[in-house]
Amino acid sequence: MTIPGLMQDNELMISALIRYAAEYHGHMEIVTRTVEGPMHRYTYADAEKRAKQLSKALINQFCIQQGDRIGTLAWTTYRHFELFYGVSGMGAVLHTTNPRLFNDQISYIINHAEDRVLFLDLDFVPLVEKILPELKSIEKFVILTDRAHMPQTSLPDAICYEELLAAETSEYDWPVFDERAASSLCYTSGTTGNPKGVLYSHRSTIIHALSAAQNSAYALSVYDSIMPIAPMYHANAWGLPYVAAMLGAKLVLPGPKMDGENIQDIIESEGVTFSCAVPTVFSMLFQYLEESGKKIDSLKRTMIGGSAVPKAMTEKFLNTYGVTVLQLWGMTETSPLGVVASSTPQTDALPPKERAEVRDKQGRVQFGLEIKVLDEEGKAIPRDGVAFGDLWVRGPWVTASYFRSEGGEILDKDGWFPTGDVVTIDQYGYIKITDRAKDVIKSGGEWISSIDIENLAVAHPKVMQAGVVGIYHPKWEERPILVIKPAPDQTLTEEEVLDFLKGKIAKWWMPDAVFIVDELPLTATGKIKKTALRDQYKDCLSS
Ligand code: ADP
Repeated sequence: MTIPGLMQDNELMISALIRYAAEYHGHMEIVTRTVEGPMHRYTYADAEKRAKQLSKALINQFCIQQGDRIGTLAWTTYRHFELFYGVSGMGAVLHTTNPRLFNDQISYIINHAEDRVLFLDLDFVPLVEKILPELKSIEKFVILTDRAHMPQTSLPDAICYEELLAAETSEYDWPVFDERAASSLCYTSGTTGNPKGVLYSHRSTIIHALSAAQNSAYALSVYDSIMPIAPMYHANAWGLPYVAAMLGAKLVLPGPKMDGENIQDIIESEGVTFSCAVPTVFSMLFQYLEESGKKIDSLKRTMIGGSAVPKAMTEKFLNTYGVTVLQLWGMTETSPLGVVASSTPQTDALPPKERAEVRDKQGRVQFGLEIKVLDEEGKAIPRDGVAFGDLWVRGPWVTASYFRSEGGEILDKDGWFPTGDVVTIDQYGYIKITDRAKDVIKSGGEWISSIDIENLAVAHPKVMQAGVVGIYHPKWEERPILVIKPAPDQTLTEEEVLDFLKGKIAKWWMPDAVFIVDELPLTATGKIKKTALRDQYKDCLSS
């Protein structure tokens, strides 16, 4: 029989992060490129004070109770950062909404979450005015700006954020409550069906931040200048607003401008050492760097994830700009840290070619998260880097069910979450995603990895983006086709692309057709929308 331990049992509270940062790193800076234009700078001590004013305003002026949902439609700025702490800190739930979703999805999730207040950036006023008749639960609209910038709007009784805060003092003690209480809510982008709500808790957020900061994951410290380019509405900017406060590290928030020129400028001017984004953002940055000849010398490491990182991108970062790429695989459902491609003494000792192969995989698991990979019969696949199967995950920062989902249970009987990703796992424990289960291409009974072909195609200097999908074929059931967006001012032909792929992949993996287009359809999180591609080209091999 066990006996109880005799250690203190404090609740893990999100407010403790900002309290710590304010007390021990109070002078460290949070720098923002604001929606209004100019740069804004203040400190963790200032941020905590204003987050407290915000909590009090929610309670005193809006009668918000613990557990109520508060929506945001906002960029990555200091005011959104204050919402991260002010809303969760008082016990309400911060619902960050992705403004790139379709309008009907935005109103669907705000209604589904029953948000009582909506905090929105100036840029999103026209959008919210448009969907206003659909919004069922919003009682107050708060515009994230000062009096001088308040717009003319049809939003009823729109409130100015700075005035809301100015009415309160910062005399407020962060409350302590059950660490399992909900803290924030983020909906998946809903590429299949309606978006689903992932409801994080204070406990899951803190444990995720502790794990993410580790050397084997983001490897961050107070010496870093951290800039999340992944937006705050995309899995909480990958946890960085929490991790940065936990370390007291300088935080740089890029606001609404995520183009190459603005990103380069802010990296250099704020000495950013660490960043994170999906691959498409860095393609834009490279393009600007090449055109302008400008540098990103302060940047040491960057996390890239959300979709597979092309080998060509990792190599360009390292060889041209001296930046180490850390690939991350994750999901909104995993907070989002899943696996990171950080090295180990064992992989460092491999010959260069094999070491690069391991580095270009999605990565290995951190302590705290468990993974298993099962074949079609539910048996664990061998760790040989060749066999593939479905990836399942389990751990304290993985979702157990979706918010208000009628569908019910999503875990298996032992508490494992099915990721929907198909992967291999090698002898070092590194997983490699071959596809999302729903994107898998099966040709004549054999699997083809769309991700591998895409990665090869974008290594061609004239290719900007590449999407591969399986299309119905009368003989082979499915065959891959490749759709390409060329780099700016470049033209290329189907033959050039096929010649480039020849010898690099098995013959039967060669796409049956190549299409060169001006734009590829993208999802709200900046990934290639395979459903749209499949739809658009569905008859191209049968007619
Ligand atoms: P959405 O479905 O809304 O885009 P997520 O951002 O949560 O939501 O997407 C998670 C999915 O993104 C994963 O299941 C996986 O298919 C894909 N993904 C994430 N990171 C990577 C990566 N490094 N390589 C390949 N695929 C990735």
